[in-house]
Amino acid sequence: MGFVQSVVKRIRAKILLSEPGRVHISAARQQELIIGRKGFWAELRAEGNLAAGQGTLVIFCVFRNTGNQDVHTMTCEKILSGISICSGRRRGDRMKIEEKYMEAARRLHQSSPVVDAHLDLAGELYFRVINGEKNPLRTHYLNHLREAGFNLIVSSVYLRDDQLPEGGLRAALDQISVLQEAVDQNEEFFLVRSAGDLNRVLSEDRIGILLYMEGLDCIGTDLRLLRILRELGVRGASLTWSRRNALANGCCKAGQRQQIPGGLSPEGKAAVEELERLSMFLDVSHLNDDGFADVCRIAKKPFIATHSNSQSVFFNYRNLSDGQMKELGSRGGMMGLNGCDLIVGCMEGEDPLEMLCRHVEHEASLIGIDKVGLGLDFCDSYTETEPKYPNGNTIEYHDCLGNHSQVPKLTAALLQRGMEEEAVKKVIGGNWIRYFREVLTFPMAE
Ligand SMILES: [Zn+2]
Repeated sequence: MGFVQSVVKRIRAKILLSEPGRVHISAARQQELIIGRKGFWAELRAEGNLAAGQGTLVIFCVFRNTGNQDVHTMTCEKILSGISICSGRRRGDRMKIEEKYMEAARRLHQSSPVVDAHLDLAGELYFRVINGEKNPLRTHYLNHLREAGFNLIVSSVYLRDDQLPEGGLRAALDQISVLQEAVDQNEEFFLVRSAGDLNRVLSEDRIGILLYMEGLDCIGTDLRLLRILRELGVRGASLTWSRRNALANGCCKAGQRQQIPGGLSPEGKAAVEELERLSMFLDVSHLNDDGFADVCRIAKKPFIATHSNSQSVFFNYRNLSDGQMKELGSRGGMMGLNGCDLIVGCMEGEDPLEMLCRHVEHEASLIGIDKVGLGLDFCDSYTETEPKYPNGNTIEYHDCLGNHSQVPKLTAALLQRGMEEEAVKKVIGGNWIRYFREVLTFPMAE
């Protein structure tokens, strides 16, 4: 993951400004791109293998408005077709949060449900335990979650490439086992398997953990195993992470820029039906566009994107287009706001808080405030503890907000930008509680 770091060469690009802060590269030739638009000119600095004409190309674009010292830094994405979309912010703009909004945010977090619909918790705990840590859930998470008043964490069971295919099922079961042990060790936590469990977590002010599979690589095409996973407490699944498996094709990883074609396999289509039959939720984050379209044709129940943002705010294949969001929203699905900088789009100086707010506000305006929640996907803690791949010695940090204790800052930012308290309460947890309560209430179909 991550961008190629070596600077290869500078390029120049013709650009058209369609609106402030957004750029479309209209003519992208390998070596020579011309710049211009009424008094604007820009010098672009590219990172990536330009000569190869493919792969990720990050272009640092310094605008110089003639006669004006304004300097903007933008991150652009060059796609092979020559069409690129970029978003950018003036460097240095930072939201200053007034204390009264922070106070209101802290109050809301302690008095209303707070939910994170995506955390690679089971995988992280597994690696920490095999590295010798005794109670990593308590050490690394309890205080942060308590400080921000979290009531429910949706933990993925995420498998790395080196655990697949043969070791996948064993690795998944190991993660589930370690997570259950961690919950047993800490009375503040509770494994949520039913709507009753969810209500209990809320009334007893405990922290619920809801398990789901991030990708079903570990079952191959053996859909019978879904029922066993359900018995173990797994209540949802995405068909695939950002990779191809026997059921579906993933979209490319967040740090890459490549359209990946190919819809669901016949077994993948059957998996959608089986998940619905078992009343397990279906997550479409990481699914490619063809797969998303197939899900729309097959799914009869609402499906969700636990940790994806809006392509209109920041173009990335991990994010959803407006059309996809409308489709998901019209079927009663939900979106969880991702807090990874590669997906938020705040790698190059954009204010993370403002970008996060823009995603929430755009999603709410398009599909309604009742369909938006958090799915923060904080990975830094996981990344620190996972085994390193060969040549993967440097750890890249990507969490926009640092950790869960910082989430009230986002809440305060939404309030300061004018969102009503009732709406903010829905975003930080109320909507997910409603959605999961419904999913967990359904019995298995005969
Ligand atoms: Zn993910």
